[in-house]
Amino acid sequence: MEDKSAFTSNFIKNIMENDINSGKLKEIITRFPPEPNGYLHIGHVRAITINNELANMFGGKTNLRFDDTNPAKEEVEFVNSIKEDVKWLYPWDNLFWASDYFDEMYNRAVLLIRKGLAYVDDQSAEQISSKRGTLTEPGINSPYRDRSVEENFELFEKMKNKAFLEGSKVLRAKIDMADPNINMRDPVIYRIAYREHHNTGDKWCIYPMYDFAHPLEDAIEGITHSLCSLEFEAHRPLYDWVVRECEMSAKPQQIEFGKLLITNVILSKRNLRKLVEDKLVDGWDDPRIATISGLRRRGYTPEALKNFVFSTGISKTNGLVEYAQLEHFIREDLKLKAPRTMAVLDPLKVVITNYPENQVEWLDEEINKEAPEMGSRKIPFSRVVYIEQDDFMEVPVPKYHRLYPGNEVRLAHAYFIKCTDVLKDEFGKVIEVHATYDPETKSGSGFTARKVKGTIHWVDGTLNVPAEFRLYDHLTIENEETKDLPVNEKLNPNSIDIHYGFLEENMKDAKPHDKYQFTRHGYFNADPKYTKNGKVVFNRIVPLKSSFKVE
Ligand code: ATP
Ligand code: MG
Repeated sequence: MEDKSAFTSNFIKNIMENDINSGKLKEIITRFPPEPNGYLHIGHVRAITINNELANMFGGKTNLRFDDTNPAKEEVEFVNSIKEDVKWLYPWDNLFWASDYFDEMYNRAVLLIRKGLAYVDDQSAEQISSKRGTLTEPGINSPYRDRSVEENFELFEKMKNKAFLEGSKVLRAKIDMADPNINMRDPVIYRIAYREHHNTGDKWCIYPMYDFAHPLEDAIEGITHSLCSLEFEAHRPLYDWVVRECEMSAKPQQIEFGKLLITNVILSKRNLRKLVEDKLVDGWDDPRIATISGLRRRGYTPEALKNFVFSTGISKTNGLVEYAQLEHFIREDLKLKAPRTMAVLDPLKVVITNYPENQVEWLDEEINKEAPEMGSRKIPFSRVVYIEQDDFMEVPVPKYHRLYPGNEVRLAHAYFIKCTDVLKDEFGKVIEVHATYDPETKSGSGFTARKVKGTIHWVDGTLNVPAEFRLYDHLTIENEETKDLPVNEKLNPNSIDIHYGFLEENMKDAKPHDKYQFTRHGYFNADPKYTKNGKVVFNRIVPLKSSFKVE
């Protein structure tokens, strides 16, 4: 169930409402503008959600636009993953490419030249940045700043016509080298780059810079409110300058919101890319990273991610949220949706010596006690079952109520069993437990003559599904000592913990992305990459809140 209450009133909505009520605007159009240089992560879920929800509040729409103005970094793999990830969260049919506007952007740059508001600079990138000044000192004018309109026009055309080497010239906006806002000190708006572009091939060797391109893209599409994260606040005067001086008919308004940060979660694209390229994780969809595809593979649902984002509200400050808050929302989402079954992750064989050989009983059990409409499942029970290794202790510690010699426990949904004997290997490790069962104690039979203190889960010894279970912990260790270390030097050696065990027989057809609650272990998702050809691999999404509760 969606809970958008923390989203219903916020400063962006107020601005939009005023724009509609005052008659300034007739509709609301927002956009999500990813640069295809990596996979999207949960921070982007926030940006996608904010844009979509705000537009939807006014019956408006959101464009998905690839900000593909930088040909060096873009890759088809990223484009495809971004399309898939966005669609998984919100349906969209408005797909746009910034590169479709290259002609118009060029024409607008020429307009600036004609107006005396742009010039070709022959200085190197280093020279330009060394003369930019500081927060307290103004910048220094370029010696090329006062080139004539005609000369600038010719040089820029030659730049476009491949007459100059990469790095030898740029086009700069002519604003003010003494502006207190460094972004306004004659920013570079076009640079030369001899690189194939995935969309325009080798048509162009000059490409627009982000601060010039982005406001034009928004204006061309008629975006009414250009919502972005806080680090763009100081770029807003330049955004407005470009829209105004390029004489765009639409006047989009940039509004910044706070970024989402989560404890123990890597959200920097640079670090995510490093992890993937150095093969420190199993690709961009490794279940331990918070890319959308990693979270999906781990077992997160769009509903859980959106509800999580809703719960963080919309404000103008960057917010650090506990990882546990994210976990809360997937538990909430799966509580009534996921079938509940038993899985044994570290099997220990139990032989019920007084149970007839070759007999199988099919127990009938609800699929989800809290959601009776899900119906029932059949669980086979016979002479041999598996229990968890830590549900047995040969010498019990105080207050241990599970199985130990002489003690009786309930096998969940089945019978009481009492441990009578143990078999050990040559190293003294218990490899098999013998027990007897009491036919009177069948679950649901109303037996009350005796009580037991422990209930443990189990899986039948023969009719079962072997499976691999992957339990996760945070990928990196974050503390005072590790805070300045590069990501590859603070990896948690225990971030993945693999177990081999068994599932109930009724899960033999488990398919990728099937989600279950395994008694006492938590919520799991069938891994879409490794669940195939009869092999079943489950990722633990989250443990249950109180892990030793049996239902
Ligand atoms: P880069 O450092 O590569 O620019 P980016 O995170 O800004 O990375 P983009 O693809 O440019 O990636 O981002 C698309 C949109 O997502 C931008 O509007 C950006 O503001 C927003 N965004 C990125 N990270 C977060 C975050 N943690 N919380 C909220 N919004 C975010
Ligand atoms: Mg960016």
